[in-house]
Amino acid sequence: MLDTPNHDIPSGKLKCCQVCGSKRLELVIDLGHQPLCDSLPSETQLDAPETSYPLRQVWCRDCTLSQIDYVIPGEVVFHPEYPYRSGITKELAIYQDAFVQDAVSDLALESGQLVVDIGSNDGTLLSGFKQRGMRVLGVEPTNIARIAQEQGIDTLQAFFDEDTAQKIVETHGHAKVATATNVFAHVAKLGSFIRGLERLLADDGVFILENHYLLDVIEGGQFDTIYHEHLRTYSLKSIVKLFEFFDFTCVDARRVSRYGGNIRVYVAKGKGRPVKPSIAKLLKAEDDFGLSRPECYAGFRALAEKVKLDLLNLALDCKEKGLSFVGNSCPGRCSTLLNYVGIDRMLMPYICEQPTSLKLGLYLPGKHIPVVDNERLIREQPDYVVLLAWHYGEPIAAQLRARGLKSKLVMPMPELRILSI
Ligand SMILES: [Zn+2]
Repeated sequence: MLDTPNHDIPSGKLKCCQVCGSKRLELVIDLGHQPLCDSLPSETQLDAPETSYPLRQVWCRDCTLSQIDYVIPGEVVFHPEYPYRSGITKELAIYQDAFVQDAVSDLALESGQLVVDIGSNDGTLLSGFKQRGMRVLGVEPTNIARIAQEQGIDTLQAFFDEDTAQKIVETHGHAKVATATNVFAHVAKLGSFIRGLERLLADDGVFILENHYLLDVIEGGQFDTIYHEHLRTYSLKSIVKLFEFFDFTCVDARRVSRYGGNIRVYVAKGKGRPVKPSIAKLLKAEDDFGLSRPECYAGFRALAEKVKLDLLNLALDCKEKGLSFVGNSCPGRCSTLLNYVGIDRMLMPYICEQPTSLKLGLYLPGKHIPVVDNERLIREQPDYVVLLAWHYGEPIAAQLRARGLKSKLVMPMPELRILSI
């Protein structure tokens, strides 16, 4: 194995690449200082100061990992009241079931085998494995663990590390599969996490990770996927490099559609496992696209700047003409977008969410736009509604139309588009 850099990344300003330890880091984009996107203040918290941190993305010239250059401790980011619930997005629930189906057939899983989902949220993913006869266990640090437990998914409320892995092995035995969807980019103690996987998995075990994918982010100008929770935006090249430092082999990779473009990688325990051609193919696609060349990131910055100008101009234009301009959906990424563009509650008086959202009654970090029940959209029929979850823009637009919304719908990214009826 290679000389290992410190993968348990210290908090504060980043000194070297989080994966390979290189100091050759270059700017992707500077989004200014921003508050944590999932720490939504309540009414009373609006009377207190709010902390902002540098939100700057850099990329590594050696392994192409794209990464945040200021790291905030996990306990601060994933506080117990963290408001994200995966089960409430219908599209996501369907998508997760397809993930389970793929895993069961790709790995020929059998009933009774243990599947552990790390960052299991409300247990939606595991319920799919459970329905197919597997034994399941969730690991989830926030209070959402209780919701999963109430829904019959056995869940350990903890951060995943070597100690947690050891506890699981003692109580449940070794796992055949460990999954981490939309989690692996968030972990600061990456070394401890992967050593935990080494301990948790059986000798023929497989770790399946899925995360937003650098190629999609850059190609699609998705700068709103950059926020403090996402410490890393992986290329496949950087994932392969990372697991070279540990007792694992990346054996299969594919691009999948979630969140506007994800990468899913199967990582087998042990060295020298048979590797599918998908790995070489995707590495070549990254190289062909230019992920190791600075021009690629200059183009990305230009796209972001255009979004900023176009969206702000539209908001100002509406204000001047007395037209109403509001937001729909409040995913974490809309905090990056609205804080970067500079839209506050004077320009956008509210953001709507579905009635089950844990964000209702709270305020957008930084800009303090109130989050309200989306029933208000139908009642008020605003002139413009910005689809802040634009990566699910088409199905959301169809649902809003079906409910009788007649407003002009705005897709803010990757290029501003207005959808009339
Ligand atoms: Zn690197």
